[in-house]
Amino acid sequence: MAQEQDCIFCKIINGEIPSSKVYEDEDVYAFLDISQVTKGHTLIVPKEHTKDIYNTSPQIAEKLFSRVPRIAQAIKQTYQPIGMNILNNNEEPAGQSVFHLHIHLLPRYGEGDGFKAKWNVN
Ligand code: 5GP
Ligand code: ZN
Repeated sequence: MAQEQDCIFCKIINGEIPSSKVYEDEDVYAFLDISQVTKGHTLIVPKEHTKDIYNTSPQIAEKLFSRVPRIAQAIKQTYQPIGMNILNNNEEPAGQSVFHLHIHLLPRYGEGDGFKAKWNVN
């Protein structure tokens, strides 16, 4: 897989930086976000380094997005949230801080669950 030196998520994928694994297969890796906006906040990344959605091939996007339902289902079973937001931030003004494409899965637990404080959306 093409990886990039100095990319935090590439280092997580190849085990150089420890992470709490949620799911893994040949194409994607999912792990708990180090800063849990809500309980069970998970990131899904393609194993192949790609900067953001604009620089991603349809093949990588298909692999990444096709895993979302089963990982969301697993999180729902584990954490029993009452809802879930799924987000992808591209470029700094939109909140991207790690430049390796990723999808946020954010279980929701109702008012005061931390989501609004971080993301400022309803
Ligand atoms: P972004 O702001 O780019 O959409 O999301 C990047 C996410 O990566 C942030 O929510 C941040 O907490 C998370 N993150 C940054 N560094 C690490 C790390 O070393 N380990 C884990 N598990 N998450 C990280
Ligand atoms: Zn990377």
